[in-house]
Amino acid sequence: MNLERVAALVRELLVEIGEDPDREGLRRTPERVARAYEFLTSGYRQKVADIINNAVFESHANNMIICRDIEVYSLCEHHMLPFFGKCHIGYIARKKVLGLSKLARIVDLYARRLQIQERLTAQIAREIMDNTKAEGVGVVMECRHLCMMMRGVEKQNSVMTTSSVLGSFHDDAPTRNEFMQLIHR
Ligand code: ZN
Repeated sequence: MNLERVAALVRELLVEIGEDPDREGLRRTPERVARAYEFLTSGYRQKVADIINNAVFESHANNMIICRDIEVYSLCEHHMLPFFGKCHIGYIARKKVLGLSKLARIVDLYARRLQIQERLTAQIAREIMDNTKAEGVGVVMECRHLCMMMRGVEKQNSVMTTSSVLGSFHDDAPTRNEFMQLIHR
């Protein structure tokens, strides 16, 4: 990402919204915004393989692995405003399990892009499935969207829930129900 170019664009944006980019408080804002966006969109410049970095372990247990309440911060692609909340992940391993911290890093990799919540949820599920060859994967995400909350659209307190289920979580209702009960306990 060209930080200088982005900062110049932010400076122009400040002028267009009626601000004075040369006033004291705003003088370094374009650079700060550029650096913030570099971080908030860093998922475009990362590879899952580098994140997982061989942290896939052999396991012969095939019980359900659950990781609840992973914090999510992303930007909606329609307004470039934040949406944020919690992500819950479950999967039933066949032979491979992922280190727990890697699940959170996969969430961040896809969240640090312009997103819609549905796609973000599906991409996380697919990535876990592809890397572990699990029997099944379930991802549920509960987020609040600032583009709805700040702009006076209805439902200011609403939480949007999306889910993506693959393999046995998709095909087998008892498995899916067990997952839903475990994440909402
Ligand atoms: Zn939006």
